[in-house]
Amino acid sequence: MDWTRTRHKKLLRRCCLAAARGESPGEVSTPLAIRQDINQNGAVASIEKFRSWVECNSYSSDVAAVNSMGKILSDNFLQLGLDESVFEDEQGVRHYLWATKSWHQRKDVVLVGHHDTVFPSGEFDVWEPDADSIRGPAVIDMKGGLLVVDAALSRLSENGELESLGLALVCVGDEEVGSPRSAEWVAESVRGAKFGLVFEAGRGNDKIVVCRKGTGKMKVTFGGLAAHAGNHHAKGRNAIVAASKFCIEVSNLTDYAEGTTVNVGLIEGGTAVNTVADRCEVNLDIRFTENSIGDGLAQRIRDVANNFATDGIVVEVKGGVSRPSWKSSPENIELAKSYGRYAAKHGLSSELHPLVGGGSDANLIARLGIPCIDGLGPRGKGFHTIKETVEIKTLKQRADALYDFLTSGL
Ligand SMILES: [Zn+2]
Repeated sequence: MDWTRTRHKKLLRRCCLAAARGESPGEVSTPLAIRQDINQNGAVASIEKFRSWVECNSYSSDVAAVNSMGKILSDNFLQLGLDESVFEDEQGVRHYLWATKSWHQRKDVVLVGHHDTVFPSGEFDVWEPDADSIRGPAVIDMKGGLLVVDAALSRLSENGELESLGLALVCVGDEEVGSPRSAEWVAESVRGAKFGLVFEAGRGNDKIVVCRKGTGKMKVTFGGLAAHAGNHHAKGRNAIVAASKFCIEVSNLTDYAEGTTVNVGLIEGGTAVNTVADRCEVNLDIRFTENSIGDGLAQRIRDVANNFATDGIVVEVKGGVSRPSWKSSPENIELAKSYGRYAAKHGLSSELHPLVGGGSDANLIARLGIPCIDGLGPRGKGFHTIKETVEIKTLKQRADALYDFLTSGL
């Protein structure tokens, strides 16, 4: 279905009805009104730019798609006169750092984003504007966040205030899969920065994120021996059965009180219902609050898996901790307070968010000892689902808060 066209028709109809009732255009929201809202005071350059970003699929596993989005952003940020560094990883995905000239002398602030998404092409190709919101892939996670950054930097550039800031924007193409290939390069590139601002989706109540759980991904593959289920069942070695017992055992390592979870998220195995399964693959997601717990947990999972490597079953374990836990610190809280003053000035909450289960690149930046805050993108709902929606007015609120903060004498 063409969502955009349907929605436009509905909005146009409402506009006509309002005109017939003698209401002013301002009382009805149309795509045109949305554009005007966002352009107000030049805080966000263009709804059409946003649309082109959202409509450019950039699924993490599609190298060409991620790089197309990277090129769009590269063209955009080079226009602001920023220097560009590009890191192409072993899969060919390009990660970017755009920096002012002053950054090379004085690393005041690093802004952190990503341009990959969780949606394969064809799964959620939607641009659906409504009166106050837009539904589409990555409108909050995090092309909306990148638009907020673009708006603030454009305004700084127009006012001749950008070059004097020691500022860089780092933007990676593998964040949604845990930043496995970009993490080291990001660490080298931003080490020594005074603080970091991360533009992941704003929380429902705008609260500022100052800590996140650590995360990890593990893949455990069980190999057995195929046999005909009727004639030679006893000769087979069933990989699915071994994997099932393993799944139950590692799921029991979950400890909600401690904040530790082991999620069996994906399982795949077997070849036919009448064949003893000779292969089964299990994918796990792990979350934890303390790094010592995370390392111990990954090792426990490896040990449990290896215990099944008997009687003709072979086991292979890959992965482990991908993002360390990000602990709150007095420096984070001080930074949140400083930024929060400007958030409040523009109608957003300045409160701190409780511990967040999902990791982000803030975990990696904080590991370098750089005070950090996150969740500075626009408000919305449904990220990582086909209900992902951004509240339009918060794009401008976030952009204004960022501009004011960056011009407050860092
Ligand atoms: Zn994200």
